[in-house]
Amino acid sequence: MKAAAFDFDRADTLAEALVSETGDKPVAGNQSLGPMMNLRLVRARRLIDIATVPELRAIVETPEYVRFGAATTHAEVEDGETPDPTSGWMRAAASNIAHRAVRNRGTMGGSLAHADPAADWVIVLTGLEATVVVAGPDGERRIPMADFMTGPYTTALGDNELLVAVEVPRPGPAARWGYWKFMRQVGEFAKASATVLIDPENGRHLCALGALGGPPVVLPDPLAIIERRVSAADIVPSALAGRPLQSFAMHVAALERALARALGEEEDGA
Ligand SMILES: Cc1cc2nc3c(=O)[nH]c(=O)nc-3n(C[C@H](O)[C@H](O)[C@H](O)COP(=O)(O)OP(=O)(O)OC[C@H]3O[C@@H](n4cnc5c(N)ncnc54)[C@H](O)[C@@H]3O)c2cc1C
Repeated sequence: MKAAAFDFDRADTLAEALVSETGDKPVAGNQSLGPMMNLRLVRARRLIDIATVPELRAIVETPEYVRFGAATTHAEVEDGETPDPTSGWMRAAASNIAHRAVRNRGTMGGSLAHADPAADWVIVLTGLEATVVVAGPDGERRIPMADFMTGPYTTALGDNELLVAVEVPRPGPAARWGYWKFMRQVGEFAKASATVLIDPENGRHLCALGALGGPPVVLPDPLAIIERRVSAADIVPSALAGRPLQSFAMHVAALERALARALGEEEDGA
């Protein structure tokens, strides 16, 4: 099947990128929107290509964070063309998203706006306590990543708002990180995923689960998990109670593997 007919424009500025008319849709890498339109799950009167808008391509470094323009591609992070505030964690995560052809075009902002529950950036950026920067007719606002995804394929983006950037805080020098995802084959979306952040200098400890059919779940009392006072097998079923999952086993295992990586007990790699 092919997409229904639509008009197409390329935006050169952020003002042009801000979608204002009913039926307009921004398109960045087109790696998710294209398939959805071809299946006629989504229709648009006009697509506005935002992939080359300078404000959405900008990278800004501050002592506290790196701000990634929404149109930063997965491949640019993978290739180290952007600074990595996490000293390699983001680069490793990017290199395991889909296949290289998808990573060449797919963008960080497009992935978050699309909000596939199994997407990598959704869980990774939640686990890194990133902040999403959104612009719209009423100006700019900031949304913590943990509040950005509100349901499957649903976000806190309002009508006519555009995701312009993602701010990723710099962890301290002693910080540790683990990310694990189970996939049936390399290049496929995750069946279960988990992240563990240990950032003692900044007092940040976070454990999160992803690929749950909805937004990631940030687990309570992360220190108890990190210090192994509570086991993954104990915490995961209670944290996911009521969810329509056939089994918690993969999420229990994903959390155990992410924790082992963060504690340096297991090699990095997908
Ligand atoms: C075969 C295949 C395998 C894949 N496997 C994985 C995987 O394993 N892990 C993973 O994480 N992803 C995977 N993906 C998805 C891929 O990462 C996409 O690149 C990503 O989800 C969407 O990014 P995009 O830039 O292509 O967005 P687009 O397809 O251009 O847009 C997606 C949606 O977001 C909106 N949008 C785009 N940019 C913005 C913005 N700045 N502000 C507001 N709205 C915006 C669009 O209007 C559209 O609704 C896969 C895709 C394919 C085709």
